[in-house]
Amino acid sequence: MQTTGSDDAGNSPTKKRWVVKIGSALITADNGLHLDNIHQWSRQFAALMNDGVELVLVSSGSIAEGMHRLKWFERPTAVHELQAAAAVGQMGLVRAYESELQAHGLNTAQILLTHDDLSNRQRYLNAKTTLATLLKLHVLPVINENDTVTTDEIKVGDNDNLAALVANLISADQLIILTDQNGLYDQDPVKNPTATLIKQADAGDPKLFEMAGPSNNRLATGGMQTKILAAVRAARSGTDTVIASGREPDVLLRLHSGEAIGTKLTATHKKLVAHKMWLANQLKVTGSLQIDSGALEKMRDGVCSLLPVGVTGVEGQFRRGELVSICSAEGDEIARGLVNYSATEATLLAGCKSDKILERLGYVNEPELVNRDNMVAVNARHH
Ligand code: GLU
Repeated sequence: MQTTGSDDAGNSPTKKRWVVKIGSALITADNGLHLDNIHQWSRQFAALMNDGVELVLVSSGSIAEGMHRLKWFERPTAVHELQAAAAVGQMGLVRAYESELQAHGLNTAQILLTHDDLSNRQRYLNAKTTLATLLKLHVLPVINENDTVTTDEIKVGDNDNLAALVANLISADQLIILTDQNGLYDQDPVKNPTATLIKQADAGDPKLFEMAGPSNNRLATGGMQTKILAAVRAARSGTDTVIASGREPDVLLRLHSGEAIGTKLTATHKKLVAHKMWLANQLKVTGSLQIDSGALEKMRDGVCSLLPVGVTGVEGQFRRGELVSICSAEGDEIARGLVNYSATEATLLAGCKSDKILERLGYVNEPELVNRDNMVAVNARHH
């Protein structure tokens, strides 16, 4: 981790596929959308796109703008009211980006996603192909969560994470999170004037999470912790994350020219193969398998197939093919994978040698409960 400037902290100008995420606090002013900010960013988007950068924008602000248009001064708590505000505000948001980009002769496209879209393999692949096509057509996709239809079960929940999922989807080189802070500090800069900006760190460094505080902004969903989780997620596709102030003049152009601005969280782990990345991005698990110390030991250096003999407990109701957590006796999640047997079958099989599966069940699906090809390690506790 480094807190002083260095060439290493710069962003290579050769990196060409970017996801830019802009948060609600930057997009809205007291009297609605911050049109001047949108104007400034759009000018930079156009310049980057014309310079060969393939750009995808993830923009928040629909609820904030909807509240403004509806003259609501307090954020509603009722889900249907939030959804209504999002529907109203999204109109203003895309209209602003569209007219700005049109002035530069560029087209924009609106894409509204939910987590459900990305966990369904078919829709995930569709979204991937559509985004790739739009990038080839030199169009700027403007993405937001489909707040009008999302409920807790199917939503990503915050746009930092949504942007990271999009970065995974298009294998972006960089995820740039523009926010109203200068980046990540080693302490809370509001409470402690000696706090130092972290210029560069490994995205998976567990110390980062302790340093970052939760959000206390009325409009924003995610604070710094959410941004760090997003960086961890982005790193799975080899994507570096930069957290920088969206108010910094020409921030995107300067990052493109290699200037170090804000905090850069680099992806140092090996990139996951496409199928495993999709697996790793599943946010909802339906149950868990507790494993014994022997199985745990085997997973120390990466995933390996989980046999029934290594399982000591089964929790939750899951069916064959669903995603389950694989946990140690202490309850720490070690890996996630698609299970070959239902919860009822797994309970009958726990502790049993694979050659006894037929005897216990009367049939055999596979000798292992979870095959290593359908499993991803959960490296740090934040993965
Ligand atoms: N989708 C929400 C909106 O547009 C924002 C969520 C977030 O900022 O994380 O208002």
